[in-house]
Amino acid sequence: MFLPMILNHVNRISTAAFNAIKIMEMNSRKSPYFTSEEESKSASPSKRQTRSGKRQAIRIKLDETTGGLNESANEMVKVKKVKKVAASVEENKADKPFLPENWDTVLHNIQIMRAKKDAPVDQMGAEQCADSASSPEVKRFQVLISLMLSSQTKDQVTFAAMEKLKKHGLSVENIINTDEDVIANLIHPVGFWKKKASYIKRTATILAAQYNSDIPQTVEELCKLPGVGQKMAVLTVNIGWKKSVGIGVDTHVHRIANRLGWTRRPTKTPEDTQKDLEDWLPRPLWDEVNVLLVGFGQQHCTPIKPQCSTCLNKNLCPVGRSLVEK
Ligand code: SF4
Repeated sequence: MFLPMILNHVNRISTAAFNAIKIMEMNSRKSPYFTSEEESKSASPSKRQTRSGKRQAIRIKLDETTGGLNESANEMVKVKKVKKVAASVEENKADKPFLPENWDTVLHNIQIMRAKKDAPVDQMGAEQCADSASSPEVKRFQVLISLMLSSQTKDQVTFAAMEKLKKHGLSVENIINTDEDVIANLIHPVGFWKKKASYIKRTATILAAQYNSDIPQTVEELCKLPGVGQKMAVLTVNIGWKKSVGIGVDTHVHRIANRLGWTRRPTKTPEDTQKDLEDWLPRPLWDEVNVLLVGFGQQHCTPIKPQCSTCLNKNLCPVGRSLVEK
């Protein structure tokens, strides 16, 4: 009667020993993130990533003790969150016709590479542009304006323009009482500054007349405002109203999703990329994936000469593999 208990005990000890050896192996890596080449390899799966619609089991490779990370990175990465979300996908996978292989490992690697949160978007993104001491309505208006300014414009330039606008007084009422030329001068040199000055002025007038000087709560209504597109509207609701209504896909998210094979097939527009991503990426990750990928695109997976040789996903990403193998 004790034999099964003894065998079970022996089995547990073997598993613990195996895990301990695995962790020891992983603690010897070399890269900006790891301390030896071996660990870098161990972060990669053996299978090739594809865009096939084949349903796959989700394999969680994160170690709860160390996560395979150095200590500071380990503190910052939301390992448990990814595990929990990935588990929910396992439950729902029958409803998901497309699921990129190893997406959870790839995402986790990006979280590691972004652990310092020192990309321009982290310091100067839309969330950082609004005046935290303002009323909720004014903050939401400022989030909307910063996103309007950010199109075709670097975060640093948007941030500087927002500082000037806030100093001038960035509320619906103040903008209504400000000449368009003055707004244009304040926001110069953001991309399309003349057009944007006109959009901002007209938007403030509409908000005062139709929304009690607040901003609309839906993507549809926001898209009716002058100069507001889909990505802007989604991010405005996500950040301004703190409601997760979609994935904000800008040029960085669009490019990286295609490089990683996170779309069913190569997509031509950010809107198509958004649809594909929302089809399989677990909803609890929608909010964070925008900032995560935008910062990753600013620092690592840049439009030209991405840093594939030091990327933790170089063996998982089709582009990384092809560049590294050359
Ligand atoms: S391997 Fe290269 S292309 Fe792929 S995610 Fe990393 S940096 Fe981007």
